[in-house]
Amino acid sequence: MDVNEGLNHNGQYSTATTAEDFRINIAEVNRRIDSAAARAGRDSTEIELLPVSKTVPQERIREAVAAGCHKLGENKVQEAFRKSDELADLDINWAVIGHLQSNKARDVAKFASEFQALDRLKVAAALDRRLEAAGRSLDVYVQVNTSAEESKFGMPPEELLSFLRELSQFPTLNLQGLMTLAVFSPDHDRVRTCFQRLRTLRDQAQETDPELIGAGKLSMGMSGDYEVAIEEGANCVRVGQAIFGKRALPDSHYWPENG
Ligand SMILES: *Cc1c(COP(=O)(O)O)cnc(C)c1O
Repeated sequence: MDVNEGLNHNGQYSTATTAEDFRINIAEVNRRIDSAAARAGRDSTEIELLPVSKTVPQERIREAVAAGCHKLGENKVQEAFRKSDELADLDINWAVIGHLQSNKARDVAKFASEFQALDRLKVAAALDRRLEAAGRSLDVYVQVNTSAEESKFGMPPEELLSFLRELSQFPTLNLQGLMTLAVFSPDHDRVRTCFQRLRTLRDQAQETDPELIGAGKLSMGMSGDYEVAIEEGANCVRVGQAIFGKRALPDSHYWPENG
């Protein structure tokens, strides 16, 4: 499959501004999810499409909600927190999908329903303490680095099991499974290898320590590679540009080390 299949014929993701635009883009992504699932002999009802609204202003998010998006992913806590406030009149569940510093755990505990980038015990402990105080719980995915030196995000695979063992001491964190960002490459074989690594880690954990892996889901795949991710077993695909339109700046800009 070609990497450009997710793009329209201009090689760009078109910007959705009206609810109708969103309906069209979402229908197209769902169609591709269904066919990728069919190719892999999977049931597409076990695959969640998580629209990622980072950098998108609230006016356009309102249109996306009108088109049926009631759970949104954001990679920066501040931006997500601000939007949750601006859009408090709407029914939206917020998923924080980007790196978190423990001093921002308090904010996440206030408004998010899901956190997909858990990779340090310090953050888990900080979240648990705040959630406990607020009487809330949080769905979490543990982020694993499946591209070795190419990424600074996520925990090394060899540390996963001991991390999962420690996580069980935090009752407010509902483990959903594992999350990864694949290597940034137009080469789908290299991307696929990252997804396969995540699935293998999940399968191994389910084999040896089934009680540690929670729901055992896999969050992997973005606009450029979600079909590959589905072929490799994704249960959640995080799709921004193919729904909202192209972002102005390269991804590295939105993934600051200290986000
Ligand atoms: C931005 C982002 C995505 C979505 O990327 P798109 O190219 O817009 O589909 C997925 N996951 C994470 C962690 C992100 O920050």
